Amino acid sequence: MKSQLEVVIVGGGIGGLFAANALTAHGIRVLVYEQAPALGEIGAGVFLTPNSVRQLQRVGLGPAVEEWGARVGPGSHYFRHDGAPIAPVQVTDSSGWNATFGMHRADLVEFLARALPPDIVHTGHRCTGFEQDRGKAHVSFANGTIVQADIVVGADGIHSELRPYVFPPSRPVFSGSVAYRGTVAHESIPHWPTNAWLMWLGKGKHFLTFPVRAGKLINYVGFVPADKEMKESWSAPGDPDILRREFAGWDPRIESLLQHVQMTFRWALFDREPLPTWTRGRLTLLGDAAHPMLPHLGQGANQSIEDGMALATILARTDRETAPAALLAYERLRRERVAQVQRGARENGLRYDSAYADLGVRDAEITAHAAFRKRLYDHDVVPEAQAAAITQTQ
Ligand SMILES: Cc1cc2nc3c(=O)[nH]c(=O)nc-3n(C[C@H](O)[C@H](O)[C@H](O)COP(=O)(O)OP(=O)(O)OC[C@H]3O[C@@H](n4cnc5c(N)ncnc54)[C@H](O)[C@@H]3O)c2cc1C
Repeated sequence: MKSQLEVVIVGGGIGGLFAANALTAHGIRVLVYEQAPALGEIGAGVFLTPNSVRQLQRVGLGPAVEEWGARVGPGSHYFRHDGAPIAPVQVTDSSGWNATFGMHRADLVEFLARALPPDIVHTGHRCTGFEQDRGKAHVSFANGTIVQADIVVGADGIHSELRPYVFPPSRPVFSGSVAYRGTVAHESIPHWPTNAWLMWLGKGKHFLTFPVRAGKLINYVGFVPADKEMKESWSAPGDPDILRREFAGWDPRIESLLQHVQMTFRWALFDREPLPTWTRGRLTLLGDAAHPMLPHLGQGANQSIEDGMALATILARTDRETAPAALLAYERLRRERVAQVQRGARENGLRYDSAYADLGVRDAEITAHAAFRKRLYDHDVVPEAQAAAITQTQ
């Protein structure tokens, strides 16, 4: 039976677009409003892990992940800055299922959007306001459009326009680090593995590579200290020579990759303290709008995908009357899990940046961290969302 609910999502990033797919798969009517004139991404790579690949498969996107992604395998490894090996990287869940993929963000956004029925995504709509009464929610946009819905989902990123309607405004927390990101064509570094996630850890810096776009491109990220707080901008151009200098004297493999970088982008790393609540009436938040996190567990996109599937699973058993209670059930279900990941990402950043007096202790923690990764990857949000849906309808 088709749900009568009408859901509006503000934000057509990975979180908003996956949620639209999950809601559609559950027979719920949804519209997405994105501020940009066209969908697309300037960003480079994003890493998908089994906890979200499981959900992408459920909406029929498993083959697209396999086609566009690059699966990383047992050659994945952590090294000290000079190339001395530390430990293998956990690439499976505890059952041994390897569903870890490097993915170009543009590819992911494209196939998430393409999988939706036509007329669901409306670009060129910048949300500027929100109101609700007992029966409906209303969203207004800079172009004068006003839409109404039973439920509104703010999937509008770390600077969410909608967050202040559920919780008093606050500033994001700057980590003190900046990431240089970009890709290098594999044909220019044919010796580079196309099936491995590789990370080098040095004092206050770390360097990561993984393949994307079926191994045609190698994504790199160089994390370095920022000397002053940069304004968050996903697309601020960086200077390739400064990037090369930051990692001069590290493992020569890094230099062999960076010599091919002609253009790079800087990304200031911010997160927020976990919010005590992210729902009010018919409005809830999802993805970075609710819980922006540092990238040191590679979970920003993965957690937003879990959010979308949890929300859709719960809303599938919801009507217009019970919608506000269902949104609270979704928030209750997700809040502690994402707070753990937010905190875990901060802790892992200290390991990656070698903020330890004794690097032997750090190396032991990196090795032991595989157990945390397995628990993270084992998680399937659907059974517990089904249980939460049943509880809130009783
Ligand atoms: C360009 C970019 C590059 C990134 N690169 C990485 C990375 O390399 N590694 C990593 O771990 N994480 C990265 N992140 C963060 C990570 O991708 C996110 O955690 C994840 O994608 C979940 O994001 P989201 O959909 O919640 O928010 P976002 O990806 O930020 O998407 C929010 C969307 O909402 C739209 N929007 C914002 N305000 C409004 C408004 N008022 N009205 C309508 N639409 C609005 C934005 O244009 C955007 O499309 C990046 C984010 C961005 C935007």
